[in-house]
Amino acid sequence: TEACLKAIDAADALNAFVHKTPEIAMERARAADARIKAGDAPSMCGLPIGIKDLFCTKGVPSQAASRILEGFRPEYESTVSQQLADAGSVMLGKLNMDEFAMGSSNETSVYGNAVSPWRRGNDDAQLTPGGSSGGSAAAVAADLCLAATGTDTGGSIRQPAAFTGITGIKPTYGRCSRWGIVAFASSLDQAGPMTKNVRDAAIMLEAMCGHDPKDSTSADLPVPDFEAMLTGDIKGKKIGIPKEYRMDGMPAEIEKLWAEGAEMLRAAGAEIIDISLPHTKYALPTYYVIAPAEASSNLARYDGVRYGRRAALAQGDGITEMYEKTRAEGFGHEVQRRVMVGTYVLSAGFYDAYYNRARKVRTLIKKDFEDVFAAGIDAILTPATPSAAFGLGEMKETDPVQMYLNDVFTVTVNLAGLPGVSVPTGLDAQGLPLGLQLIGRPWEEGDLLNTAYALE
Ligand code: GLN
Repeated sequence: TEACLKAIDAADALNAFVHKTPEIAMERARAADARIKAGDAPSMCGLPIGIKDLFCTKGVPSQAASRILEGFRPEYESTVSQQLADAGSVMLGKLNMDEFAMGSSNETSVYGNAVSPWRRGNDDAQLTPGGSSGGSAAAVAADLCLAATGTDTGGSIRQPAAFTGITGIKPTYGRCSRWGIVAFASSLDQAGPMTKNVRDAAIMLEAMCGHDPKDSTSADLPVPDFEAMLTGDIKGKKIGIPKEYRMDGMPAEIEKLWAEGAEMLRAAGAEIIDISLPHTKYALPTYYVIAPAEASSNLARYDGVRYGRRAALAQGDGITEMYEKTRAEGFGHEVQRRVMVGTYVLSAGFYDAYYNRARKVRTLIKKDFEDVFAAGIDAILTPATPSAAFGLGEMKETDPVQMYLNDVFTVTVNLAGLPGVSVPTGLDAQGLPLGLQLIGRPWEEGDLLNTAYALE
């Protein structure tokens, strides 16, 4: 813990930790020492970790990287961060992210972007660690902590993991409690671990999962010993390669990585099978209707009364002006764009044309996966991202769709509620990490991690 706290102070340039909690860390580290001495060490006893700013942490600023939550110190702890503390882990602080988890580069954060510790060859231009869990990815990749929590609504664990050469798993929807995690799109959001390798992911995921009566969508299912399932034996497993993920203009090195990944799994005894997920091309537009719709509803609570910051008011301003001024200065551009898109697609005249249609297409996307799993496929192998990490400032804010295209391989998994893991599997020609994604059957994270283990 002391070494990590030192490393964090020395790495302020990465802007990964946005609130440091050294007192809490040292207190928990001492408690962990005592438990180890007493011979009753739980699974993550004494392990220093970082917590994404989206998780409410009692008494500690929890701002979802938004100006509107300035000054908000929750009275309560999220279920997941509480479970991690109960497992003995040591919270070092809160990690940078895109505002309300909306973004793919960590550039929408009120704290400014986190920076990847990686560089392209000899070029010292700064790269994005990905987003929205960019601080988590940068912190784990730069050895500021042993692991971090992330959340994934459309790829925010898997894409930053791929960009920084670490492992990240989004579990099945309902595996981890969403209680105390600031909501973005409630039917898509899931928490998950971001770690240095698959074994760490298995250990940390087990600590994070479980039924929580405070989240009605959390599943009342036993949590398996994921680590014990890492045998490396994947003989006879059927791995699907979906042809729809072979996009036009995909960089040759991504194609190559994908083929090599399939070959590795085949060499380990798996059967590689070409499959089709015919509705894949509708996933991005569907996601960018459903996610903003849910976000616009979830973000209605930030009104200048209940949480965080209230704008300065002028003489004669009433409650409407207070709402307008608070939301206009409290939300950044991307968040405002999502609220506008969301309220539009939910509005009486357009509800059927957009939101309802997107819900129907979502069902078809889910059915594509159900069909291939019913046909015996155990896991699906795809690239995690369409490219390696891009430079900070490279994507134009005036063309948000350019940024949304980053999520092309990951959003399907959230729409279908499935578990997906990103595993670092190689470097591109300029020495930047690339990742592959494995998508599994619902509730079979253990099996999925074991396949990922064979790919590692
Ligand atoms: N990049 C996607 C978005 O901006 C996904 C974000 C996430 O998974 N939280 O919505």
